Amino acid sequence: MSGGPISSKFTFGDFALSCHPESRCKARSISGHLTSAALLIIIACLISSVTEANEPPAIEVSGTIDKLADAILPLWTSRDPPVILYHLKVDSGDLVVTIESYNSLFAKRSLYKENCVASGWEKLIDCDLHMIDNLIDRFALIGRSTNDRSQTARRVEYRRTLLMWVLGHELGHVVLKHGLSDYDEIKGMHVFDAAGQAKELEADSYSIKVVGNIDTALPSAYSTILDITNALVRKAVCPKTFPKLCSAMPIGVGLIFDYTPGAQSIRVAMTGSHPDYVARFLRILYESARATSQESSLGIVSRQAIELLEVEDSAGRWISLNEALAPK
Ligand SMILES: [Zn+2]
Repeated sequence: MSGGPISSKFTFGDFALSCHPESRCKARSISGHLTSAALLIIIACLISSVTEANEPPAIEVSGTIDKLADAILPLWTSRDPPVILYHLKVDSGDLVVTIESYNSLFAKRSLYKENCVASGWEKLIDCDLHMIDNLIDRFALIGRSTNDRSQTARRVEYRRTLLMWVLGHELGHVVLKHGLSDYDEIKGMHVFDAAGQAKELEADSYSIKVVGNIDTALPSAYSTILDITNALVRKAVCPKTFPKLCSAMPIGVGLIFDYTPGAQSIRVAMTGSHPDYVARFLRILYESARATSQESSLGIVSRQAIELLEVEDSAGRWISLNEALAPK
């Protein structure tokens, strides 16, 4: 699912050539001396510049993360989507992050399929929008009972909010200088991988910072997280009737669990039910309620849910979510 390196860097004599596959190529002089290798690089870059001249001009975006999502939505099925230069303020000053978003079903170039990848040192995010549509379908977020028009409207809203979360997460990797990281839905989340876990959870916390907490974010941002979490739990509890409910699942609003005393733990299998998403999204809900008006409601319920869930680790053992998320 994840591809090769996001870019290649070559050093010839006095020049360093940095090439992003298929799209950009930059040469910089280190000492100012021209060598034959350097001339070759310049020629290569001139050819690349001609190619770039045919590309659509970059779109400049600044402001909150929803503005970034709104700039990408109209490009969803574009064959040749422009690069987006996202300007944001960080503690150390102004930062510009290059965002290459495309839909691998439609775009003539798609470097990564079903994945979003951040490269901290290049300040670059590369993202296949088809991954977002896949998440919407796999979690059965759009009910079948609604008519075509409202289904389309709901898909656009889910695209927007999921983009905010995914890009917020990837921006976290860039701002926190994590190097190369991906959002691969099966293995790239690294939640249960000790080496990758800390960075993934840090990037999730950063996404709350840019999307907002439960009091300050757009309501749709958290209803999407709730919908996905509920869908995953429903899939675990009612595998035969999913996406429909079964009698084992309580009916309710908000985060839906059986959190009465003595409730059975909910085992979310590693295969097919994306335990990494349940773990991470519950943690996002819990963190987002901290020091807000919902600390004593959503904050407590999400903590109870975290305590009730068991997930399968990479060795096939059932462990509590707390254990799975504990710093290793
Ligand atoms: Zn990540």
